[in-house]
Amino acid sequence: MSEEKFDAIIVGGGLAGATAAYILANAGMEVLLADRGDFCGSKNVTGGRLYAHSLEKVFPGFAEEAPIERKVTHEKISLMTPKSSLDIGFSSEKLGEDPESASYTILHSKFDPWLAEKCEEAGVMLVPGIRVDSCVVEDGKVVGIDAGGEIMYSDVVIIADGVNSLLAQKLGMKKELTPHEVAVGVKEVIKLDEEVINQRFGVRGNEGVAWLSAGDATAGAFGGGLLYTNKDTISIGIVATLADIGYTDISIPDLLDRYKEHPAIKPYIEGGETIEYSAHLVPEAGVHMIPELVRDGVLVTGDAAGFVVNLGFTVRGMDFAVESGRLAAEAVIRAKEAGDFSKEGLSSYVDALNESFIMKDMKALKGFPAILSRREVFKDLPEMVDDICTKLFTVSGKPSMDFIMYVINSMASHLSVAQLTSLVGDIMDAF
Ligand SMILES: Cc1cc2nc3c(=O)[nH]c(=O)nc-3n(C[C@H](O)[C@H](O)[C@H](O)COP(=O)(O)OP(=O)(O)OC[C@H]3O[C@@H](n4cnc5c(N)ncnc54)[C@H](O)[C@@H]3O)c2cc1C
Repeated sequence: MSEEKFDAIIVGGGLAGATAAYILANAGMEVLLADRGDFCGSKNVTGGRLYAHSLEKVFPGFAEEAPIERKVTHEKISLMTPKSSLDIGFSSEKLGEDPESASYTILHSKFDPWLAEKCEEAGVMLVPGIRVDSCVVEDGKVVGIDAGGEIMYSDVVIIADGVNSLLAQKLGMKKELTPHEVAVGVKEVIKLDEEVINQRFGVRGNEGVAWLSAGDATAGAFGGGLLYTNKDTISIGIVATLADIGYTDISIPDLLDRYKEHPAIKPYIEGGETIEYSAHLVPEAGVHMIPELVRDGVLVTGDAAGFVVNLGFTVRGMDFAVESGRLAAEAVIRAKEAGDFSKEGLSSYVDALNESFIMKDMKALKGFPAILSRREVFKDLPEMVDDICTKLFTVSGKPSMDFIMYVINSMASHLSVAQLTSLVGDIMDAF
């Protein structure tokens, strides 16, 4: 294998890498896709909600054949304290009517192998089970990869090795991650009978529920809880920022156990059996952590490039991974046509990213990590809401105090004027 030179080598068979590999192979290139997992998807973790729009551009109508779990038709958001939950639900047959705006629950362990199979059908040489140690650099240009001493050459390398991206770090394109830049996600997949899921969540057929919660899920720290219905399993997890570890003395795995015991959550998962447990880092500093994206002979995509929007209670990275993989591949195709794999020859990737929803959304939401890292959002707000709702829905026969006054008093006891002013200031700055 070391004698062979590929047109492109892609490191990482997640959604970013596999999408890039598929597009390049379809364009007639010789492509090697290397992944350290036993199979693509074996090392990857996601909450499990895939917004379809970017994959629709690559595989129109993919949901017809791909192993999706359910189409999300029911949305639920909750603000939780230890004993209460204010829930906002929205269900509509219109959700996902148009395939481009649909979203599906998926499991990486099934979905990524399907994508890998598509790559192989397109002619990609898929090599699972190899860990790439570094990129090979000659005269300042990336010319291949080194996997345990075995050198493989290519015109271009696409780095899609996920959030840590040791490859981009070794090239000096990306800095070492700091606790403020990443969250930790822990997730379980719980087996339950399909009919039980349908009855408990009030869904039919392949309708699915996406339920996100803020507040008690992370004991008041930045982050949130997620629960997605799959066909006959439930994905449940917590995403909590690393910088906030220590804010409570509860470890992140314990937060998940606690979340599963929450009175609003427990009845939905009761009797289920945990069949999968995983943990993973999530990029969360948005536009502030994007590394150098292109150098001579190399591009960085997906989580490796920090392309995730993490609003604490919702994480969106898979549609970013697919889109950035596609844009990287298209830039490589242009570079091949021009016979120029230099940084300049590959720079149409950066231009395309700037025009895409990736950079537009990341820039638009750039102030959100600062807002959401404030205690008011995840602790004071849920407590205040609990207080007000308890008052609103309680009739005890005692004389009711004027409700408006009660709300004002409650707000004042949870949020000082200074806190409120500074929070509003942060919100204004974010836009
Ligand atoms: C708990 C949690 C919940 C999330 N929820 C959602 C959600 O609901 N919706 C959403 O859109 N996003 C969500 N995300 C984010 C989303 O999962 C990621 O943004 C997305 O999967 C990133 O895809 P990727 O291909 O860039 O990276 P990954 O999926 O991380 O793939 C990287 C691949 O590179 C391989 N690799 C790494 N190093 C090497 C090496 N040295 N050599 C060879 N191979 C290597 C790995 O094995 C892996 O297959 C969540 C993330 C977490 C952790």
